Amino acid sequence: MGSGTPYFIPLNEAIEISLNRSLTLKTEIVPLEKSYNRILSSSLSALTNDPPFDNSAMDGFAVKYNETLNPPNKFSISNIIAAGNKFDNIVKNREAARIMTGAPIPNGADSIIPIEDCEVDNENNTVTLNQESKPHFIRKKGENFTENQILLEEGTYLTPEKVSLCAAMGHDKIPVFKPIKVAIISTGDELRLPGEKLERGEIYESNTFGLSSLVSWLGHEPIRFPSVVDNLQKLRETLDSASKSCDVIITSGGVSMGERDFVRKIMEEEGNIDFWRIKVRPGSPPLFGTWNKTPIFGLPGNPVSSHVVFRVLCAPWFRAQTKSSQPQETKIRVKLDQDIKTVTGFITLRRIHLFNDGEQILATTKHHQGSGNIASIALGEALTLLGPNDSGKKGDFCDALLL
Ligand code: AMP
Ligand code: MG
Repeated sequence: MGSGTPYFIPLNEAIEISLNRSLTLKTEIVPLEKSYNRILSSSLSALTNDPPFDNSAMDGFAVKYNETLNPPNKFSISNIIAAGNKFDNIVKNREAARIMTGAPIPNGADSIIPIEDCEVDNENNTVTLNQESKPHFIRKKGENFTENQILLEEGTYLTPEKVSLCAAMGHDKIPVFKPIKVAIISTGDELRLPGEKLERGEIYESNTFGLSSLVSWLGHEPIRFPSVVDNLQKLRETLDSASKSCDVIITSGGVSMGERDFVRKIMEEEGNIDFWRIKVRPGSPPLFGTWNKTPIFGLPGNPVSSHVVFRVLCAPWFRAQTKSSQPQETKIRVKLDQDIKTVTGFITLRRIHLFNDGEQILATTKHHQGSGNIASIALGEALTLLGPNDSGKKGDFCDALLL
């Protein structure tokens, strides 16, 4: 593939091609408390019913429903049943059992009346119910899920809520994919680490920090490499080392057509390129291929471009490795509140702010839209997904990817 080729491929084609280079991931068992942000390697079924027994949804009294018709009705208080009570309790005729939220329903009772709707007479140990009791305040055994029911499929990304669900299902050890080890390499003579003093012509290196965070967000393991200066030999050494220690390589910078775009150059001469350049703006120059058989995404150096390309090109590849659709990209439908510049034939991803006019979600741009302006994506709320034929006129609707 010559560097002069004008050929840009559509994003979906690029994703398809990248998926031809897939990894076979190993799996491991982790303790439940370490399972957040991991991806299930096999489906999980419940080890118990939830709830495991009929219990009260309210603090109140457990009674027989038929005895509460035509209120008011007076009952003698039989006993107190707290959450965790292990005894067989019985409510006899004209009795009410004081019951706490989560406590097992005593035999004979079929309904609850909340404490706030009762008049308790402590001296005589009686309670008067001024309304009918409520059968629906009993949480029935298995009404949430039943033993052996499969609730979480292979490929499920474990959010905080799903970690709680694993616990409620009774699992203390969770089967997950081993994280993909991802080398993150920035290139450029001008790059300095934050915290260092900038000399003339230098800028802070920001891409590897954001890209590493994106890799972590997907549940995988970023390995940040020291930035590589624009030098073929140094780049070769770093790529060799990364391909030995990591499963996949992500570089930033040096993939355009310039004289000193060494990632493209070395990939052309010594690596293997599956595609170069895709029809998205910003972020059109990425390449994908292999270095020593290790898949490599060569992302553009402009900070917005590297983020955008990760979201639309790399993230689908990572999700596919674990048969996972998550963490999900959330798309919403927005109405443009201003003209947005599109590029015919390309997907246009402008950084937008959203507001609600009471009827629909409107989108505007606030920050300078240059692909070098990391603040535009960091402070933006979504990316437009304007299609190849969209004109981006004020009043048009389009999909937007939430950031
Ligand atoms: P390049 O693709 O190497 O030509 O870089 C394009 C632009 O992105 C240039 O202005 C670079 O200075 C800038 N850039 C490249 N790499 C980084 C990085 N890691 N962090 C911040 N900016 C970068
Ligand atoms: Mg560069």
